[in-house]
This record gives sequence, structure tokens and C-alpha cells, in this order.
Amino acid sequence: MSESTPVRWQPDRSKKLPPWPVPRLWTALCRGAAGTCPACGGTRLFRRFLKVEPVCAKCTAPLGLARADDAPPYFTIVVVGHIVVPLMMVVERTWTPDLWIHSAIFIPLSLGLAIGLLQPIKGMTVGVMTALGMLTDAGPG
Ligand SMILES: [Zn+2]
Repeated sequence: MSESTPVRWQPDRSKKLPPWPVPRLWTALCRGAAGTCPACGGTRLFRRFLKVEPVCAKCTAPLGLARADDAPPYFTIVVVGHIVVPLMMVVERTWTPDLWIHSAIFIPLSLGLAIGLLQPIKGMTVGVMTALGMLTDAGPG
């Protein structure tokens, strides 16, 4: 076996990111929740329902490099669960309705909350990632 140098991982710093304003964490969180660019707040964050614009047209922030992956659905499930489950328990303890009434109330409520919160939560996730510089060069996510 030949002598070799130890392999150590280093981040790829060969690609320079364009200059863009780095927002404060809370500002980026609020702008992301509102569906606007976390860096400048001047343009929309989403091209489609959950598709993030690759680059902000106003401030050139590389929003597409914030790969949120499975974090927004995870956070959405946590939030919806913490709303729906206690509500179900209160309804059960208070009125003890039939199972079909529970289903008629809480299945649509869960779906509506999940669909309604998914985009703002993804916006907040992308906002936090933008503020903290958690941007990859592996492509849009
Ligand atoms: Zn921007």
C-alpha cells in the first residue's frame, strides 16, 4: 500500500456567491413566513406552491441554494399535531362525540392546517437558512 495523505473534507469555496444582504434572523423568519425574499423582502419567495425562486430578482440572494428538504413538512406536522391533538382531547372530554363526528371535524381540520401552514413554514425555514448562511451549491431544493 502506497503512502498517501489523509483525506480531510473541506467545503468547496471555489464558487463565489453574489453579494446580497444578509438579513437578521427574526427579519428573515418574518419575511419568509410572508412569502417574500428573506434577504430584502422586495420580491416573492415562491415560484409555485413550494418551489422557491432560484435567485431573488431584486437583491440577487441565491434563495434556491437553501435546501430545506424535509424540514418544512416535519415542522408542519409538529405544529399541526400540537394544535389538533389537544383540541381532539378537549372535544372528547367535553362532548364525547361519535367517532364519525371526530373524523368529520379533525380530518379536514388537519388537512387544512397542514396545507395552509406548509408554505409559510417552508418560507420561515428558507429565511432562517438564508440568515444563517446555510446555502449549498448542490442546486435548488
Ligand atoms: Zn431579495
